Amino acid sequence: MPVLVMKFGGTSVANPDRIRRAAKRVGVEVAKGYDVIVIVSAMSGKTNELVGWVNETSPLYDAREYDAVVSSGENVTAGLMALTLQEMDIPARSWQGWQVPVKTTTAHSAARIEDIPPENIMAKFAQGMRVAVVAGFQGISPEGRITTLGRGGSDTTAVAFAAAMGAERCDIYTDVDGVYTTDPRISSKARKLDRIAFEEMLELASLGAKVLQTRSVELAMRYNVRLRVLSSFEEQSDDAGTLVCAEEEIMESNVVTGIAYSRDEAKMTLLSVADRPGIAAAIFGPLSDAGVNVDMIIQNISEDGQTDMTFSCPTDQVMRAEKAMKDAVAAGQIEYGDLMADTDVAKVSAVGIGMRSQSGVAAQMFKTLSDEGINIKVISTSEIKISVLIDRKYMELAVQALHDAFQLDKAG
Ligand code: ADP
Ligand code: ASP
Ligand code: MG
Repeated sequence: MPVLVMKFGGTSVANPDRIRRAAKRVGVEVAKGYDVIVIVSAMSGKTNELVGWVNETSPLYDAREYDAVVSSGENVTAGLMALTLQEMDIPARSWQGWQVPVKTTTAHSAARIEDIPPENIMAKFAQGMRVAVVAGFQGISPEGRITTLGRGGSDTTAVAFAAAMGAERCDIYTDVDGVYTTDPRISSKARKLDRIAFEEMLELASLGAKVLQTRSVELAMRYNVRLRVLSSFEEQSDDAGTLVCAEEEIMESNVVTGIAYSRDEAKMTLLSVADRPGIAAAIFGPLSDAGVNVDMIIQNISEDGQTDMTFSCPTDQVMRAEKAMKDAVAAGQIEYGDLMADTDVAKVSAVGIGMRSQSGVAAQMFKTLSDEGINIKVISTSEIKISVLIDRKYMELAVQALHDAFQLDKAG
């Protein structure tokens, strides 16, 4: 029988009632003749609560134990979903990541899926089971320990299963009815897209649009998975939601497709660093070893052999970054005058494949922000995106102004 993957996010499994509603959707697909792999998130708010407990217990936690704790939310919803389906007389069984097994790298809290042997689940389907409910977000390392895939990782579990099982489609059920031109919670003028190209979705996701985890889009692109985002709260037709697909399958042609934001950014500056060959490696090597995800980097003009080095990273990695820099000083690898952390910044980005062939987007973006009196602290660009770091208090204003300036409320 054809296989379908259906993923339900936190709000879609927030309580037993919502789980019943999701299970009914699964029932509809089972009745059509699909064997279904259901991937569940933890109940909404659960993972945040678990992360909070870990931080309270051990601020510079051992990532193996972080994973042991934060992976547990999905175990609950997987079991409840299987029970709900059984109550509806649908043969169903739940699986934790290690039972499948979802084999991952050892990179705790940010592990990558390496392999999902399909045999165990396929054997159960062959025996008449119709739904395999799998706990999202988690896997098992080569050392046999539980891993997690990074926040939002259940999306990636879903796409990886779709690829491994040769599923006809991977449907991501969430609390919005598709991918919008920007977060509909920030702009009431956000417009739902019927289709979006893999490359654009990849940029939007990596720049903060949490509707899909970046890695899930990467996998869908690589394995050509038909990936759809749709609402778990409305009756759904077969072409509902947003299809993430190849660029060639899309007719729309706005220069800018979407605006993304990332709220929890920090800007860190090392003052008075010796400007010598190897200094960047001496700074960013230890940061990388400490698990700090450095994003934007600026090295300022050098004066008297000294320079300032600025970089951005997620707010919750500031402590790790500070420790890594102090350790590097103690080890004699670097010297600096001072380390300043500005934790009140946010990143706002404009994304669109049309930027490849049309110039002037950056100028329009900077003019729009300047008209609103918003100061730009750091800029970075690539072929299909422009990002700026600004004061966090202007983030929503910036998103709305850019959405207006690029006329994203109108289809191109
Ligand atoms: P789930 O728990 O189902 O995985 P998430 O909260 O991770 O849901 O992702 C859905 C949320 O993503 C939406 O509620 C919305 O606020 C946010 N979001 C951000 N950018 C976008 C966008 N461009 N289109 C749709 N939703 C977006
Ligand atoms: N529950 C995890 C998180 O909140 C994974 C997910 O929902 O995708 O990040
Ligand atoms: Mg999510």
